Formats: sequence, structure tokens, C-alpha cells
Amino acid sequence: MFELTLSDCADNNENAFSKGAAFIDGEFVPISEAKLPLLDWGFIRGDANQDTVSVWRGNFFRLEDHLTRFFRNIDDLRMVSPYSREDIADVLHGLVRRSGLREAYVQMIMTRGLPPIGSRDPRTCVNRFQAYCIPYVWIARPEQQMEGLSMHVSNRWRVPAQSVSPRLKHYHWLDFEMSLFDGYDRDQQTACCVNERGNVAEGPGFNIFAVFDGAVLTPENGVLDGMTRRTVLELCDELKVPYKREEFSPDQMCSEATEVFLSTTSGGVIPVTSLDGQSVGSGKPGPITSALHEAYWSKRETGWHATPVAYQ
Ligand code: PLP
Repeated sequence: MFELTLSDCADNNENAFSKGAAFIDGEFVPISEAKLPLLDWGFIRGDANQDTVSVWRGNFFRLEDHLTRFFRNIDDLRMVSPYSREDIADVLHGLVRRSGLREAYVQMIMTRGLPPIGSRDPRTCVNRFQAYCIPYVWIARPEQQMEGLSMHVSNRWRVPAQSVSPRLKHYHWLDFEMSLFDGYDRDQQTACCVNERGNVAEGPGFNIFAVFDGAVLTPENGVLDGMTRRTVLELCDELKVPYKREEFSPDQMCSEATEVFLSTTSGGVIPVTSLDGQSVGSGKPGPITSALHEAYWSKRETGWHATPVAYQ
């Protein structure tokens, strides 16, 4: 597995933004000072859309693709951005520049915003843009990735596509959060949900892949079109690993998969080596997972899909 270390922080504690920076109501503030109005529907209705892009070694990853997905989802939610795509890109650069971080987790958020007091009509809300950057966030730390995670396969449904499009990157996470609690109760490190057909869907902040007979499968419907998922499929093409965008059941995954892994902006390609106490394959990160993990990080180190942060 690829060795992952964070850059030495060139910064010092005197920089008020070194723990992170936020952009709220047109101003940059240290992350600890970022506040939202209580009545913003992003908070009281979960009516929000976000996108999260990472910075590694001073480079954004797939920044343009993240902005495209963010604006697609703003349109789908019938929101209107108060800022242009170029303005938002500038804000994201400005956040990372202020923090001085070389490895960062950068989130842009559009909330429905505030309506006139008492209005229940979403059309009367003034949509609000905010963003922040904090040090890079791991779903599994590098040392956990060497071993692989244990995962609980919950029978809870992920919000069905018929209710809310899974392509929206929203904050309806109670299905995930409760499945995580179920998992922690069973001594598992993470958890995933199923779709309305009972097949494996996705988990809190990640897409799921399983290897059957040497081919990688990942569900296509009922899940976010994750940027890392897209990246993994590109790497499969490059490494000549066969893959299919196809669903599989929890039973198939638990009894027949030789490898299972997760993909996420928060950690890349993450092996899962046991499912509800049962080993996957050899119980160690498998060869396909390791090759994809290695390729993902080594290509990122050399500037693949990179936009350099404007630090000056
Ligand atoms: N699925 C869900 C529900 C997510 O929230 C995320 C990321 O936050 C992902 C999948 C992975 O997407 P990406 O690779 O774009 O980080």
C-alpha cells in the first residue's frame, strides 16, 4: 500500500486561519468563527447541496469536475447561485491560500437560505453560498488503510431515488448515521446501507466496490456519482482491470467477494477486509484494491487531474 504522509505545515500558529478558513456572507473568517443563521433552511430543513474537493500536495483534485457537479445539483434543486462558477473557484483558492494548508478538505455549500419570516414557500428563500476548508479528512487513516476496515452491512435503505435523487450531494444522512451506530454496536468501524431492492448501495461519504471472479463491480443506480468512483473506473481502464456498473446483494458480497473497497474524496481507495466479523478473501487488502490504491495516490503525487492552488 502507498505510504501517505501529510506535508510539514509551513504555517505557524500565528495564522488565525491555520486550523481552517470559511467564507460566509461574502467574508473570509477563521473556521472557529464561521456561523450560520439558525433559520437557514439548510439547517432546519436539511435543504442544502454541497460538494467536497480535496487538496493534496498543494493541488486541487478534479476541481472543474466538482464545480460541474455542484452547479448541476444547484440547478436540479431549483436554486440560484449568487456567485458565478469563476467566483466560487476564486473563493476556494482564497480559502486554501489563507489556511496555508497543502492537504485540505474543501467544501462548497449552497443552502436554500432564509425566506421572509413565517413563509413556507421555498421560492421565497434567498439561496446562500458558503464554503470552508479544514485539514484533510480521512474516513480511514493511512495506518487503518494498511489493515483495511471492518464494515457493518445494514439493512437500512439509503433514501430511495424516487424520493430524493442520489446524484444530489445533500445532508440527508440519518440513514447513514443510524447504520453507523448499528455498526459501532457490533464493533465495526464503518457501515453501509442497501437500496430499495435490498442490494448494496453506499455508505457515509463513500461508494462501494466488490471484486467477483477478478472483475470489479460497483452499483450504478441509487448512489452518488462519486468523483473518486469515476476516478477508480478510469484507473481500472488504465490497469486493464475488468469492471461492471452492476448491483450485488449483501449475501453475494459477504460470501463471494474476494475483495471489497470504498472510494471517497476523504481517503481515496480504502480496503474493507471484514464484513460483520467475517473476513473478505484473505482478510488482507487484496491485489486489485492495492493496485488501485497505489495508482490513485502515486498519480495524484505527480499532478494528475490537478489544479495548483493559487497560494500567492
Ligand atoms: N456517496 C455519498 C453519499 C457521499 O456523501 C460521498 C462523498 O461525500 C461519496 C459517495 C463519495 O463521493 P466522492 O468520491 O465524490 O467523494
